Amino acid sequence: MNRKKILVTGGAGFIGSHLCERLLNEGNEVICLDNYFTGSKDNIIHLMNNPYFEVVRHDVVHPFHIDVDEIYNLACPASPVHYQYNAIKTIKTSVMGAINMLGLAKRLKAKVLQASTSEVYGDPNVHPQPESYWGNVNPIGIRSCYDEGKRCAETLFVDYHRQNGVRAKLVRIFNTYGPHMNPNDGRVVSNFIVQALKGEDITIYGDGNQTRSFQYVDDLVEAMIRMMATEDSFIGPVNTGNPGEFTMLELATLVLELTGSKSKLVFQPLPSDDPRQRKPDITLAKEKLGWEPKIQLREGLITTIKYFDEVLKK
Ligand code: NAD
Ligand code: UDP
Repeated sequence: MNRKKILVTGGAGFIGSHLCERLLNEGNEVICLDNYFTGSKDNIIHLMNNPYFEVVRHDVVHPFHIDVDEIYNLACPASPVHYQYNAIKTIKTSVMGAINMLGLAKRLKAKVLQASTSEVYGDPNVHPQPESYWGNVNPIGIRSCYDEGKRCAETLFVDYHRQNGVRAKLVRIFNTYGPHMNPNDGRVVSNFIVQALKGEDITIYGDGNQTRSFQYVDDLVEAMIRMMATEDSFIGPVNTGNPGEFTMLELATLVLELTGSKSKLVFQPLPSDDPRQRKPDITLAKEKLGWEPKIQLREGLITTIKYFDEVLKK
């Protein structure tokens, strides 16, 4: 059997843990690298007795050497609360992490996939967002450490490809949710579910009319694996997201309905530079990956609520 050796940075995080599990289930050998800033061993503990799974405590800002066929570079805090906690470290993680993983891929002639983000579009003036849109990003705001860090990482990926022929792949991930999100993560889906299950107030930032498109984690993992399998000449970027678009008020109402919670909505100030709207154009993903999301918000939320219900009972 052709067992690939695959490195997943940020593998103990929300998305990384699902990716590790799926890659193992497909018969690969997986090395999970993480510094546990926002990730947790609890997310991967169920994989620990698989002999083809290895875990390494390491920080991607420092070089890392290992012999692998493929690298998925996910290491980076993704929640605004966490990436703003130490903004300089967030930029270092995105930029130096990208340089270190690209250097490794160059030496090994391995494929390397970057978990980029819809944040590269900033507060978009084009709606929905196609990959050809260059974005509207504030370079000096409180979200810039993440947005510009990820934009710089994209630049590094295309330049390593152009200059050194590195087998680079870029996916732009839109808001993703599902089991293994940290209850204290701070992002909207986990906040609303945890608040509803605990009977606490649901915190709506601003008037709640800003929109997001929410993708269930299994759909994202499928897209990432398909992207990695594309021919070397195709580096992307490719949007991966669910085009269903919801206001935060609609999301809150749905979470209240599905949890049966009596929590009240409370309105809090909108953080600066919070994008007003976001929705992926997934034409390219359909064409190049033969992919589109299968799990709609209601169905994905039911699974996610069940997960948080169990976690909160522990
Ligand atoms: P997460 O915070 O759960 O996972 C990030 C993981 O990276 C954690 O396990 C964390 O400990 C690890 N990490 C952070 N800094 C590190 C460092 N310097 N060295 C080693 N490990 C480090 O977040 P997530 O939602 O799973 O996001 C994973 C990736 O996907 C991130 O790169 C994120 O930017 C990207 N992404 C996520 C979303 C989303 O909606 N979840 C959207 C766009 C992009
Ligand atoms: N948000 C909210 N209440 C919360 C957390 C977030 O209303 O408790 C809003 C936030 O202001 C933003 C949207 O939900 O408009 C999505 O926020 P999240 O942090 O999940 O992701 P991002 O802003 O990075 O898309």
